[in-house]
Amino acid sequence: MKIHEYQAKALLREFGVAVPKGDVADTPAQARAIAQRLSGKVVVKAQVHAGGRGKAGGIKLADDPAAAEQAAGQILGMMLKTPQTPPEGIKVRKVLVEEASAIDRELYLSITLDRARATHVVMASQAGGMEIEEVAAKTPDKILREWAHPALGVQDFQARRLAFGLGLAGEQFKQGAALIRNLFALYLAKDCSLVEINPLVVTRDGRVFALDAKLNFDDNALYRHKEIAELRDTNEETPLDVEASKYGLNYIKLDGDVGCMVNGAGLAMATMDIIQQAGGEPANFLDVGGGASPEQVENAFRILSSDPSVKAIFINVFGGILRVDRLAEGVIGAVKKLGLKLPVVLRAEGTNVEQGKKMLADSGLALTMADDMADGATKAVALAKGQKP
Ligand code: GDP
Ligand code: MN
Repeated sequence: MKIHEYQAKALLREFGVAVPKGDVADTPAQARAIAQRLSGKVVVKAQVHAGGRGKAGGIKLADDPAAAEQAAGQILGMMLKTPQTPPEGIKVRKVLVEEASAIDRELYLSITLDRARATHVVMASQAGGMEIEEVAAKTPDKILREWAHPALGVQDFQARRLAFGLGLAGEQFKQGAALIRNLFALYLAKDCSLVEINPLVVTRDGRVFALDAKLNFDDNALYRHKEIAELRDTNEETPLDVEASKYGLNYIKLDGDVGCMVNGAGLAMATMDIIQQAGGEPANFLDVGGGASPEQVENAFRILSSDPSVKAIFINVFGGILRVDRLAEGVIGAVKKLGLKLPVVLRAEGTNVEQGKKMLADSGLALTMADDMADGATKAVALAKGQKP
């Protein structure tokens, strides 16, 4: 789960990580009032779940409260388009108004899970403020790493080594090392999957703080962080993803045109691979789960077929806990209820497969049967392109 920058900064404050003074506004008038309280120059920042706001016109400096009101008026309601948003952009509903900082240096700091080493990694770089992916690709030696065991946390010597590597000295070195330790405490305590501070700044008057903040959380740990789960903003999520999460379906919308309904995450991933191998593109990832009921299958089918870019549906199931006859029941119910016109390809194996196939054949639905996964993918890709399988 993702949260907004203003929410992330409130958490940083709680854990003793320095951030600029500021507050969030929904209207230009509120933005003006905040700027008045802060006095002096402010920065008005669009709050959306995407980075790259600066270059896209979502961040504006304002000299006085009147200019802050005007900037908020321009940003609020705009469709902000950055490389991290969908092509149509995301509507800005809130702005963060903060005291502007006189920046001397922009640094980079992040914490995430290193899957290959099965432990946490703290990354730091003097090349902050720019896209870190580009730094990693072109000059990987500019990124420093320290691995931190979950039980030990980040050790003092590691925090100092990173602060030193960031070129911090004297009082700033102390501030930097403490900030790294506090940030790690937050990451661990709240079950984050990512903490990213880009940029971490050194101001001209020598302070070190987080100018931007991005926090992502492990969805599977949200049950033990009610206060974090409450920060969810479904306005920022794809509507179909939100709908799917209501039914506990594991659904992620993708860019292709072959809709996939699969049971099991591993089989779902293999299905996406094999669709690509057949020259097509999957429209979604969808794992209906092992113990899906006919109702669950029906919900899945409805969500996946309501995506207008889906041109054909590939059902790929292995009947284990979800028996093939129960799947057939769900599919037949859903197709009849929805009046579905899309071509559907079915590949099924496992428990009660003969019974399930017979139910589908007798149902009068226009189904294309597949012998195996590769055959199913080839047929679904052809049908999505409007060709005969
Ligand atoms: P992002 O573009 O979505 O990652 O948003 P950031 O919060 O990282 O801001 C992007 C850039 O705007 C920063 O790297 C800074 O260069 C600039 N910026 C943001 N806030 C301030 C500020 O208070 N003062 C100055 N001078 N620049 C700022
Ligand atoms: Mn940033």
